Amino acid sequence: MGEFDLIARHFARATPQALLGPGDDCALVRPEPGMELAITTDMLVEGTHFLPDTDPRDLGWKTLAVNLSDLAAMGARPRWVLLALSLPAADETWLAAFAEGLHGCAREFGVDLIGGDTTRGPLNLCVTAIGEVPAGRALRRDGAQAGDDIWISGQPGLAALGLAQLQGRLQLPAAWQTLCIKRLQAPRPRVQLGLALRPLAHAAIDISDGLLADLGHVARRSGLQARLALNQLPRLPEGVDRATALDALLAGGDDYELCFTAPSSQRLALGCIAADLDIPLWRIGKMEAAEASADATGPVLLLDPDGQVIEWARLGYDHFA
Ligand code: ADP
Ligand code: MG
Repeated sequence: MGEFDLIARHFARATPQALLGPGDDCALVRPEPGMELAITTDMLVEGTHFLPDTDPRDLGWKTLAVNLSDLAAMGARPRWVLLALSLPAADETWLAAFAEGLHGCAREFGVDLIGGDTTRGPLNLCVTAIGEVPAGRALRRDGAQAGDDIWISGQPGLAALGLAQLQGRLQLPAAWQTLCIKRLQAPRPRVQLGLALRPLAHAAIDISDGLLADLGHVARRSGLQARLALNQLPRLPEGVDRATALDALLAGGDDYELCFTAPSSQRLALGCIAADLDIPLWRIGKMEAAEASADATGPVLLLDPDGQVIEWARLGYDHFA
């Protein structure tokens, strides 16, 4: 099967959101009037971002999902995606499963695959996602204000526990194994939550590199310091070693939950959103003006119930650290 048959069979699908989809030199799209485009790209490399024996259907889902998560974190509505992939071989079975996972995620979140590039090489998957957000309304990292509550969705840390289980570094209780591995391999981007937060939140980020690291980006970019209360953090999974679970929650990657800040006047509204969307939202701390000492202490402080600072060694994933 040649390159063009491969694209036609596995990737070219109807593109109702585009004026022109795959097949020409470029795709053509028309944004809605008054909208800005939010554009992001994320690459998944075998051995770095996923284990070599990852189920291709999960991989197809996740390749798209991690990009939609970035759109969600901006409060953008996902509309169009492009897929650039290099493949060691045109393995029909693998490709069919990968494409099924990818198209499943696209369908679920209402995006069209409008183009891409397909070459031979080491397995490498790169999606570019494009969404829309009303002009001036995107949830940026630099938008947090002093006095804002800090919130986190869902149960961050499970993906890191799932990875530890798969790599044999940890034996999770049976009740948690499936869930943690599912969070790692088929994360659900918080698209609806991102849209609902648009009028309420001041800043947002998705937790792909770990809560402390990613919240640190928000604090730095906003010129603030984040103060997290240990006793307000999400419940840890029962039956898992507490220190391990806490480390996964604070510093584990690959969760794709949203961390956001909002004024305390929005607590009630956020409670309604949590109930409507059936997503737990945890109020875990506050944004404060950065003290003169913030350079030394870092952008995120973790405080015990007595207000004492807890040192936390590992600060999330950095490919070049
Ligand atoms: P060009 O040589 O003009 O760059 P290509 O031969 O790379 O075009 O691709 C042909 C068409 O197929 C283009 O419209 C491109 O966007 C689309 N395409 C290529 N790979 C993919 C893919 N994996 N998924 C969706 N569309 C693809
Ligand atoms: Mg090309």
